[in-house]
Amino acid sequence: MPLLTVESASKSFGALRAVDGVSFSVEPGELFGIAGPNGSGKSTLFNLISGIPFGPDSGRILFAGEDLAGRKGHQIARLGLVRTFQRETAFDTLSVFDNALMGATYGGKGPVPEERSAEALAFVGFAPADFDRKAAELSVYDRKRLMLASALALSPRLLLLDEPASGLTKPEIEALIALIRRIAATGATILLIEHVLTVLLALSQRLMVLNEGSLLVLDRPDVVVRDPRVIRAYLGD
Ligand code: ADP
Ligand code: MG
Repeated sequence: MPLLTVESASKSFGALRAVDGVSFSVEPGELFGIAGPNGSGKSTLFNLISGIPFGPDSGRILFAGEDLAGRKGHQIARLGLVRTFQRETAFDTLSVFDNALMGATYGGKGPVPEERSAEALAFVGFAPADFDRKAAELSVYDRKRLMLASALALSPRLLLLDEPASGLTKPEIEALIALIRRIAATGATILLIEHVLTVLLALSQRLMVLNEGSLLVLDRPDVVVRDPRVIRAYLGD
């Protein structure tokens, strides 16, 4: 059974069909990439799947076979469907540790929240000496790592990552790719929206391209990047 099934999901803002009848499914353990020009509906699709801040106008989202209709975003997160945002989010006035603890207290499985936070922070490479630093003092990359730790502290079965590579330098992007690989190796299923194509090519097993709210192509990444429809969508016509 797929871990995630999206059936003809749609969302409009006034006359704009931001997501227009999109259907696909994701297998357990898969690393599934999502690309598309700016404004093609990628982040809105994550909103619909996570219920944060809203679900679809029509269509269905099934997580592990369960219809998510009528569930609030926090209830969906507690089921193990966890999203991150395009702008890295951290509580600036809180410490690194307390940021992760916000995630861990909210949901997740296993040891007590404090242990789970420490584990998640160590997993993304923070040393215990960093735990007391204020989030506001961190570099862009360290804030990304913190955002990932806060998500991991929720013990996600399905992790939705929205453009995690944005704003990073080339070496930082390489480090991020390695980190996402390690997260995938724990068995988490990952949906990855990315603007940086090298990241999607390095990581995705399948790659979906959205254009103007609709699914344009879904295939192996090496096949997708050679598809004339994809090239046209990116270059415009
Ligand atoms: P992407 O992430 O692919 O760049 P988005 O999903 O953010 O695209 O946006 C898709 C379209 O929906 C864009 O035209 C955007 O302006 C519009 N949109 C997104 N969110 C809202 C919103 N809350 N209210 C109105 N329009 C929105
Ligand atoms: Mg977006």
